[in-house]
Amino acid sequence: MNLQAILLKYWGFSSFRPLQEDIIRSVIEGNDTLALLPTGGGKSLCYQVPGMAKDGLCIVVTPLIALMKDQVQALKLKGINAVGIYHGMSKVEIDNAIDNCVYGNVRFLYLSPERLVTDMMRSRLTKMNVSLLAVDEAHCISQWGYDFRPPYLRIAEIRELIPNTPVMALTATATTQVVEDIQEKLDFKDANVFQKSFERKNLAYMVFREEDKLNKLLKICRKQNGTGVVYVRNRRRTREIAEWLKQQKVGADFYHAGLSALERDAKQDAWMKERTRVIVSTNAFGMGIDKPNVRFVVHMDLPDSPEAYFQEAGRGGRDGNKAFAILLFNETDTDSLKQFLERSYPSIKDIKKVYNCLGNSFQLAIGSGKDQSFSFDVFDFARKYNFDPFLVFAAIGFLEKEGYLGSSDALANPSRLMIMVSNEELYRFQVANPRYNPFIKMLLRSFTGLFTEFTKIREDDIARRTGMSRNAVRKTFQELHKMNILHYKEQNEKPVITFLEERLAASDLRISKEVYRERKVFARKRMEAMIDYVSSETKCRSLFLLAYFGEKGKKRCGQCDVCLERNQAGVSAYEFNRVVKAIKPLILSEKHTLETLMNAMDLMLPEEKILNVIRYLIDNGKISENDDGVLSWK
Ligand code: ADP
Ligand code: MG
Repeated sequence: MNLQAILLKYWGFSSFRPLQEDIIRSVIEGNDTLALLPTGGGKSLCYQVPGMAKDGLCIVVTPLIALMKDQVQALKLKGINAVGIYHGMSKVEIDNAIDNCVYGNVRFLYLSPERLVTDMMRSRLTKMNVSLLAVDEAHCISQWGYDFRPPYLRIAEIRELIPNTPVMALTATATTQVVEDIQEKLDFKDANVFQKSFERKNLAYMVFREEDKLNKLLKICRKQNGTGVVYVRNRRRTREIAEWLKQQKVGADFYHAGLSALERDAKQDAWMKERTRVIVSTNAFGMGIDKPNVRFVVHMDLPDSPEAYFQEAGRGGRDGNKAFAILLFNETDTDSLKQFLERSYPSIKDIKKVYNCLGNSFQLAIGSGKDQSFSFDVFDFARKYNFDPFLVFAAIGFLEKEGYLGSSDALANPSRLMIMVSNEELYRFQVANPRYNPFIKMLLRSFTGLFTEFTKIREDDIARRTGMSRNAVRKTFQELHKMNILHYKEQNEKPVITFLEERLAASDLRISKEVYRERKVFARKRMEAMIDYVSSETKCRSLFLLAYFGEKGKKRCGQCDVCLERNQAGVSAYEFNRVVKAIKPLILSEKHTLETLMNAMDLMLPEEKILNVIRYLIDNGKISENDDGVLSWK
């Protein structure tokens, strides 16, 4: 089947985006391939289309469970047989999933790098017909990268087991150094990179030094039409800022990873459908979200790396229309970023201590616990063992990247229900409270055994059956629970921690001091680059970011705060208009290059100023210049 036909049949798209087709062809021809496309550039299709074009199984390695689930589900909806292996699945479930990849007609298997290299996988990998090994978020393989995950280093091991299968690596951000590193660590047969420029011509980067960030934010929200995202580091502040904006009549809401999955979905949905105009969020917002018409992305705090900033800011203007990426900054930010970095790298001793206390709190003996999951509340844990919650977050994040632990949102752990009164008492209650009568009747009709055991229920089903909203169903259960009529155990929304290996004695945790120190050094370098970005007053913001990612020879953007400032340099508005009045008729009436134009003009101002104005007009699209240098007015 040809590629276009596959694209249309399963995804309903009529054409590929730039580079997608080249990347797909490269890997179909059997070449190891590295695809560097910005976030939202359409990387998933780069392995999904070849996965469908070739017989057999496409294995997708990715670190992000939430995205894994989304993708598996999206493929299933298209009628494509896809499975994922997540933390929290039982051994039998994992075993079945892998079996299906050997004997069933599974086309896509999503898993984390830790799962890829288990004995269970290895022993059956050779029996699978693997057409492609796709490594998403491939920058995680490089310790120069901003999200190094050591288990990624082991991916190459399994290439020996499937020697004829090409590997495709995908990432949105990688410096030149990381690009080299990815290919080396994945044992590329030949160097082979497809890279879309990181230049975002419709995105205007702005940095404002502001003491009163809130008021500046308000001005931005009022001035910009359309949808926006505001990033803040602190969860509590997301709510405070959103509430303040609402008081000022800006349609805003907040979002962070501490909210329940339900709340997050609802908030995200409202924003996608433009019932919420501005979402104030931690960096938890945005992964996997694809909204084309975001007009502004504001950062209230300094991100910790240009990589992170580029990804987050890059959510603006996907539709190609003008959008703003605005960073509000003041002198205190530099210090808090430095502190943040220190706190994000707790001492190895503290990491081991947290690991040990986790094992104790889940009552795991040394040598046990592999693949067991536990629900977990950071704040309870921190209180109980006297840790700073932030340190616990950081330590778990570290242990997760090292492959000792997995953490995820709540497992699918449904709500349960049991009636706590006798049949007669319930009847009396119904008579005395007729308002609950229909609801209780429906329950008794729908479920058996409610009087004798906890029964799994799904609020969504009940909502459908009763015509109530899901929330009203929950409220009703909560009321009945309070009145001791029934016991309602609501779905467990606490995050889950999974031990991916047996609990080790803390002293046996393999954390190399040198590697750890080096990582911190790289993190500091990225932070310093970010501080340079905001501190510089002379370098075009776009050029700065491009240079950071190793792209040279681009033109300045003409629309960031630095360029705008420079464009105006030395020219008053009056002078500016005088020049425009003089050159516009010349350009409109005759063919001019810059040179002939300058000759034709009477020089009412110093030549340099006139050139400044013309450069500004070119940069801002008022004047365009064709390949022969001929100018035209738009
Ligand atoms: P990335 O992983 O690069 O951030 P995704 O693979 O998530 O990006 O794709 C982003 C969005 O672009 C998705 O909604 C996807 O359906 C859409 N998309 C990808 N390729 C095309 C295409 N050729 N035509 C139209 N939409 C596309
Ligand atoms: Mg992606």
